[in-house]
Amino acid sequence: MQIRNAGSHVDGNAVAGLLAEVFTVDVTTMRCQCGTCGVAAPLAETVVELDDSAAIIRCRGCTHTLMTVVRADGGVRLIIGSLRELVRE
Ligand SMILES: [Zn+2]
Repeated sequence: MQIRNAGSHVDGNAVAGLLAEVFTVDVTTMRCQCGTCGVAAPLAETVVELDDSAAIIRCRGCTHTLMTVVRADGGVRLIIGSLRELVRE
């Protein structure tokens, strides 16, 4: 998808299709770049601390938390940590 009218202001509905291109794939194949140390690797290669309610996804290079996924109140919450970039290639 190409972004048109760069610089114009619209509401978040305008990026629904663009974000669907990012989040409708197997995210474990996406490349994560750590904002702390700069290491970039597929999400599948990160280190995960997992229990029944949360998954803490850590950088294999520096152990900083890239993001945390939490199950609570009947939903799922994604908390971004030191994740700089998530790339679908
Ligand atoms: Zn790192």
